[in-house]
Amino acid sequence: MTALDRLAAALAPIGELRPGEPLARHTTFGIGGPADLFFIARDAEGLGRALLAARDAGVPAFILGSGSNILVADAGIRGLVISNRARTEEVDDAVVRIESGASFAAFARRMCRRGLAGLAWAVGIPGTLGGAVVYNAGAYGGCLADVLRRARILLPSGRAEWVDAGDLHLVYRGSAFTRGQLRDQAVLACELELAPGDPAVLLARAASYDQKRLAAQPRGRSAGSTFKNPPEAPAWKLIEAVGMRGMRRGDAAVSEKHANFFVNEGNASAADVRWLIDEARRRIFEQFGITLEPEVQLVGEWA
Ligand SMILES: Cc1cc2nc3c(=O)[nH]c(=O)nc-3n(C[C@H](O)[C@H](O)[C@H](O)COP(=O)(O)OP(=O)(O)OC[C@H]3O[C@@H](n4cnc5c(N)ncnc54)[C@H](O)[C@@H]3O)c2cc1C
Repeated sequence: MTALDRLAAALAPIGELRPGEPLARHTTFGIGGPADLFFIARDAEGLGRALLAARDAGVPAFILGSGSNILVADAGIRGLVISNRARTEEVDDAVVRIESGASFAAFARRMCRRGLAGLAWAVGIPGTLGGAVVYNAGAYGGCLADVLRRARILLPSGRAEWVDAGDLHLVYRGSAFTRGQLRDQAVLACELELAPGDPAVLLARAASYDQKRLAAQPRGRSAGSTFKNPPEAPAWKLIEAVGMRGMRRGDAAVSEKHANFFVNEGNASAADVRWLIDEARRRIFEQFGITLEPEVQLVGEWA
């Protein structure tokens, strides 16, 4: 019996398991090869149990939110992929606790409708709350750090603990999860502090952000901004300046509408998108001496 077989036997009684699930079905790019083992966690407890079972079996585990900030390799991901669909929400006046697999955009819109202010900027961000914590998701001058009080983290010991937002080191598209002591640890839930507001005003604000997004961003399959904006200039300007707006590689393309969005226009492979990413970085470094840092995370087994 392999370690993967042992893990499958441990997980089967807890929830739905799918061997060899194509990850293209679970990413906003519509790209990605199979996961050896794919497990659906419907609550925070299931997420925690799956992570601990993988650790005990010695199998690597990857937490998948909405797959809106990742480029999964064509060969897929070895080990366990846990699809986080834990979504329970509790509202106590203006303090909200929500599990990390909930949709951030839908949650933000619900809070506007309920007359809780602080998240109108988030109505177009297509990830989970967990992904939003990991990247300190933000748009139009707002970011999660403005409203996050604390997050519930699964520690390597297997114990879950609430950690204050100040200790999560939330910065522009990063946190202690992407580059610090919490690297690769799991966000189980978060607690946000919102403020009372007028639902009509909040929904009107959300609608104006929807309009801005529609006007500026392509509708096709992508993972949002490909690169973080360096201090020198917005990434889209640099990509345009090196002649890559509209450039194609197979079915992958640099969007004509917004050059920092790379889109899958049909059956693009991960290798095609990666080629465009590498090419943009190479040209921009050669022409401007600027090293662009990808915002999209490359995951899985790359050749
Ligand atoms: C059209 C479009 C527009 C976008 N616009 C914006 C924008 O305006 N602002 C912005 O900030 N982002 C934007 N994004 C990017 C993306 O939506 C965010 O980065 C989002 O927060 C990612 O969440 P996710 O659940 O999809 O994470 P995934 O892509 O599923 O995962 C990303 C990483 O986070 C880890 N992770 C996910 N959940 C957890 C968890 N519970 N615990 C620990 N680690 C976890 C994963 O393991 C992986 O390493 C956009 C994306 C798209 C496709």
